Amino acid sequence: MKILFIFFSAFTLYFVSKPKDTQRVFDVHIHGSNDLVNQLKILEHGGVYKAALSTSWDLQNNYRGKSKINLLFGLMFPCPNGKVPYSLQSCYESGQEWPPLNWMEQQIKESKIDFLGEVLNEYYGISPSDSLLFPYYALAEKYKLPVGIHTGGAGPNHGSPNFKIEMGNPLLLEKMLLRFSQLKVWIMHSGDQYYKETIDVMHRYDHVYADISVISNPDIVPSPQFKIIMKAFLEAGLEDRIMFGSDNGDIEKVIASLDEVDFLSREQKDKIFYKNAERFFATAKKAK
Ligand SMILES: [Zn+2]
Repeated sequence: MKILFIFFSAFTLYFVSKPKDTQRVFDVHIHGSNDLVNQLKILEHGGVYKAALSTSWDLQNNYRGKSKINLLFGLMFPCPNGKVPYSLQSCYESGQEWPPLNWMEQQIKESKIDFLGEVLNEYYGISPSDSLLFPYYALAEKYKLPVGIHTGGAGPNHGSPNFKIEMGNPLLLEKMLLRFSQLKVWIMHSGDQYYKETIDVMHRYDHVYADISVISNPDIVPSPQFKIIMKAFLEAGLEDRIMFGSDNGDIEKVIASLDEVDFLSREQKDKIFYKNAERFFATAKKAK
């Protein structure tokens, strides 16, 4: 009887803790947490098997070698007053706003960087096509690293005094797209309120992708609005270039919100949950 009870408890525990019939998810937009063990556990339980992480360089280094989730490591810049928006941790040890280029190239050569992003030009108050960013884009192009650029609005209390909402318009990407024609670029948050501009840019530059972080989070954007945006992307024929992102939102809720879009087929959802991201990041070298 006792043995049976032990067996039964183990059996129950196995099924309670085992992720249910989970969706495979490649989350292209996560940031750091001070409780990284718990964060990774929750993501894994939600079905996330791969994720693109960007946060302060210090915190990011804490994730290396600690995760069952296959992590891609980003480089966040330019940092207003040297800080990561919201958490206000120092982006870099010596408080720089811009990582030195020779240091960055060294990190790329040592396989410590998989992509550039989140590019914070809007928080810094400049255009994504500002020439200050060009040497960074040139290095990304040289090493075939994708570049993810924040677009749209921002939450409260980001702590970036020069933030300019008009710098979050994806149409501003045009100059850099023309100059760096081989660069792999993704529009983070799909432009949010500028989603029509995102569609315009993606129509004209067919190698540009977008992630649905924030717009798919029902705690930030009401789900009818998310559906309107998804419908517009679908009607524009962009289903092969939209990628899933949670931006540290409640992973279960964000996954459910895409799952609940009733005009998407199973195959279209799988593309957005992971297949498009697998293609987009295929050339990225794997960081250690
Ligand atoms: Zn962002």
